[in-house]
Amino acid sequence: MASRKVSLVLTGRVLMCQQLPAQAARAAVAPHVASFSSSAPLETAKKMNYKMVVVGGGTGGCAAAHMFSRKLGKGNVAVIEPADTHYYQPLWTLVGGGLRKLDQSAQPMNKVLPGACDWIKDSAVQFDPDNNTVFTKHGYEVKYDFLVCAMGLQLNYHLIKGLPEAFDVDPSLCSNYWDKTVIKTRPAMEAVTEGNVIFTFPNSPIKCAGAPQKIMYLTEEYLRQSGKRDKTNVIYNTSLGVVFGVKKYAEALTKIVQERNIQVNFRHNLIEVRPDKKEAVFEHLDTKEQKVFDYAMLHVVPPMSTPEALWNSPLVNESGYVTVKRETLQHTKYPNVFGIGDNTDIPTAKTAAAVASQTGILKKNLAAAMNGHEIAGKQYDGYTSCPLVTSKNTVIMAEFDWDGQPLETFPINQAKERRTMFHFKADIFPQMYWHMLIKGYWHGPGLFRKAMHLGMSR
Ligand SMILES: Cc1cc2nc3c(=O)[nH]c(=O)nc-3n(C[C@H](O)[C@H](O)[C@H](O)COP(=O)(O)OP(=O)(O)OC[C@H]3O[C@@H](n4cnc5c(N)ncnc54)[C@H](O)[C@@H]3O)c2cc1C
Repeated sequence: MASRKVSLVLTGRVLMCQQLPAQAARAAVAPHVASFSSSAPLETAKKMNYKMVVVGGGTGGCAAAHMFSRKLGKGNVAVIEPADTHYYQPLWTLVGGGLRKLDQSAQPMNKVLPGACDWIKDSAVQFDPDNNTVFTKHGYEVKYDFLVCAMGLQLNYHLIKGLPEAFDVDPSLCSNYWDKTVIKTRPAMEAVTEGNVIFTFPNSPIKCAGAPQKIMYLTEEYLRQSGKRDKTNVIYNTSLGVVFGVKKYAEALTKIVQERNIQVNFRHNLIEVRPDKKEAVFEHLDTKEQKVFDYAMLHVVPPMSTPEALWNSPLVNESGYVTVKRETLQHTKYPNVFGIGDNTDIPTAKTAAAVASQTGILKKNLAAAMNGHEIAGKQYDGYTSCPLVTSKNTVIMAEFDWDGQPLETFPINQAKERRTMFHFKADIFPQMYWHMLIKGYWHGPGLFRKAMHLGMSR
């Protein structure tokens, strides 16, 4: 019975096998299947049919489900999502820094998904877009007229030798990118007395490319204010060749790392952690030389990829990203498939802010596709944003597009560290996220930007 309960939640209720909704029950082809256990073979799977299926109930998927449940009505939209909890991940920088609690970043999944949609509490494992079908781990065959891929990124700690196991044995190892390890960051920081305090950036695209260094600034400030800075070396070992991808903000950050005496080592990629010796091994990506660093604290950002379920599907490119037309979010090959957020090949920095701007585009274009209309009008411009936390009360509010050009909302120099911007990051954005973004009501600051710049901005 328990396995049934975790398999399928429809319009907020947990339904048993016999309680499948009329639509799904009509379509069921194997009424003799007694349970929804993970061992149910695909040929005996339950079939379901929806006007629209969303895979992933994170930032983009949740917003998509709300927008289209409102439009299509009860029972026409399904979300395939295995997780019980929806996290507001941008808060994890402040959770790791000890400025917020983990539970402030969490809501039960059934509270954030719209009541009018069916939640299939399961993982997608296979995509057959030629037959408009998604297969799930527990043996469901879910058919759709329209599909939205919103599966985010997978954390690949296992690609670093010694991880993730070392997290369990070494209190000085932490990572803001995972709910299990973000709670280790503040205690690891407080336990430092002397030595190397190291922050990493992996050799892959990641979500929020600023987050690996935001926690470094919070830690450096803590060490300074607690009188330990003289005995510690703060080190940023990054796989990148620059401190940040957008020149305007990179210049501001370079000044900060110099002023705070932070050592930056470019092209350094973490390949192994040895918790017994408190050693971290980095490979120089150009020379292939390996260097061993002792650490008193090590903050790890893992290599990331799209979830494995996508890799062998016809929906993705050779790197595993869902291929969409970058302006319209429509799939390059399947016009009834759209992608949103981190799992797409849209060439902009992967953030919730980017997802917000994409939701407005998805709403318009997917509705046009459903109505058989041509996709037209203003399209996505690559807007993304990264509130670069530089201390426990300042932020550089980086806003830019996919060409690395600043696209700032306020008519002030946003490369400056500001307290007002910290207030946006810590207090205003979380409220906007829970009450507007994931409900599909916030489509980014484009209109405000235009108004603030008296119509002179893009
Ligand atoms: C530490 C940190 C700091 C950040 N800071 C910021 C910030 O300051 N500003 C900002 O804008 N962004 C920030 N981000 C990035 C932001 O959280 C993400 O870019 C955003 O959440 C992406 O939304 P998404 O919908 O693409 O993916 P997600 O929100 O990650 O959702 C993906 C969903 O897909 C589900 N899923 C995965 N595999 C499957 C499967 N096989 N079947 C079904 N479902 C599946 C997952 O369970 C998940 O719920 C930060 C992220 C982190 C980790």
